[in-house]
Amino acid sequence: MQTQPKASHFINGEYVEDTNGTPIEVIYPATGEVIATVYAATPEIVDKAITAARDAQAGWAAMTGTERGRILRRAADIMRERNHDLSILETYDTGKPYQETSVADATSGADALEYFGGLAASLTGEHIQLGEDWVYTRREPLGVCVGIGAWNYPTQIACWKGAPALACGNSIIFKPSETTPLCALKVAEILVEAGLPAGLYNVVQGMGEVGASLVTDPRVDKVSLTGSVPTGRKVYAAAAEGIKHVTMELGGKSPMIVFEDADIENAISGAILGNFYSSGQICSNGTRVFVHRDIKEAFLKRLAERLENAVIGDPMDPNTSFGPMVSKRQMEIALGYVEKGKAEGARLVYGGATIDREGFYMQPTVFADVTDDMSIAREEIFGPVMSVLDFETEEEVMARANATEFGLAAGVFTKDLSRAHRVAAGFEAGTCYINTYNDAPVEAPFGGMKNSGVGRENSKAAIDHYSQLKTVYVRMGDMEAPF
Ligand code: NDP
Repeated sequence: MQTQPKASHFINGEYVEDTNGTPIEVIYPATGEVIATVYAATPEIVDKAITAARDAQAGWAAMTGTERGRILRRAADIMRERNHDLSILETYDTGKPYQETSVADATSGADALEYFGGLAASLTGEHIQLGEDWVYTRREPLGVCVGIGAWNYPTQIACWKGAPALACGNSIIFKPSETTPLCALKVAEILVEAGLPAGLYNVVQGMGEVGASLVTDPRVDKVSLTGSVPTGRKVYAAAAEGIKHVTMELGGKSPMIVFEDADIENAISGAILGNFYSSGQICSNGTRVFVHRDIKEAFLKRLAERLENAVIGDPMDPNTSFGPMVSKRQMEIALGYVEKGKAEGARLVYGGATIDREGFYMQPTVFADVTDDMSIAREEIFGPVMSVLDFETEEEVMARANATEFGLAAGVFTKDLSRAHRVAAGFEAGTCYINTYNDAPVEAPFGGMKNSGVGRENSKAAIDHYSQLKTVYVRMGDMEAPF
């Protein structure tokens, strides 16, 4: 497959190059080979993208929702038809196994385009009768949106931000992570092929400073970031300067609670999916697995047996179920936490080492006897490192589960119906799971509480974050005035 894109950026409906920008080498995580080079956006490129987005937006907003939606739905169809090629490219960009990318990336992006394409025609304001007078509200777009992505789901993030933005009549400029610059360009290409007018979906490459220059530009109205909490703080503060709308999808250290009455096989499936899918590089992962003391050893024993079934290897092989990490740097961060876990007294029960092959592979890793104060229980690792903690009572485990700065997700495994809902209600987290983990359908709101974020992506809730209401008061009779 041709991995080198035609050019680095996609602006005003076409590929654009400017080799004066800093070169960014794209590395295939499974081998460490350079598979493409793109150039970070220069100030001229950033300006060109913002100008194109500004110029195109009003015409797009003037179209009916049905017309806008039809284009998004056509793009969804094209993405599904090209799922195989898009999945291979996603695997090159991220290293995630084809077994995952073929069902979770372009497909999820297509779902977002289809869902918001379907909603576009039904976006309305309301009518409020006030005696003879009345008020009506208009749901209007925000203008130019900026999307800034993390590297773990480059196609999905490009669509999760682009689809609601476009459905509401905005234009968007998307900056992918410098680690995974390839996939968003394909999303832009497909949207144009589906009939999206030029200038409405633009992609510019670059590091954090390119993101920062987009966020601070006065012509930008909204910023949606998927990234870490420290970056979120910076971007939120910069957006606040210009009183811009924001969506912040940030990191997590989510709890997963396994009660003594849980179906152990299901709970282990949840713990495996919620810690090792995408080599653990998922924001909502349930990395603090609280297992009731009575079943802890049985849980650990069976978990270790199940981990033996992981097929670690070439991510392009459809049988591979566990691939490399996205970069050497990210692998070193995760390995650093393994050392911290050992040094702080946790019991390493599985994995913990690199795998002897080219690329950035480390083993799925499990620590037991983890306590709340250890670094591996407090800090987001963003790698395949599971911490198992034990507990005795529901009250105790709820207090401990919530004792974190994060609040992205949380899960509970139990057969007790009342307890399941009581625990879900008690979690301080934006997305909670009962007897499952990490499902993220486009129909459901997704986002964090506490430091894990602001706003919601997906579902009808996202519409509120990509549009604004205008109130129009209509007086039917004469006006009264004091003099
Ligand atoms: P980073 O926070 O490092 O980067 C996120 C994006 O922000 C990148 O495109 C980055 O550019 C850009 N950026 C960095 N600094 C600035 C700045 N000052 N102004 C504007 N943009 C900037 O996150 P990672 O890419 O390392 O992704 C991992 C993080 O993302 C984890 O914390 C994870 O939990 C979180 N995440 C959250 C999700 C959610 O939905 N809640 C989903 C997926 C991940 P560059 O990297 O190119 O320099």
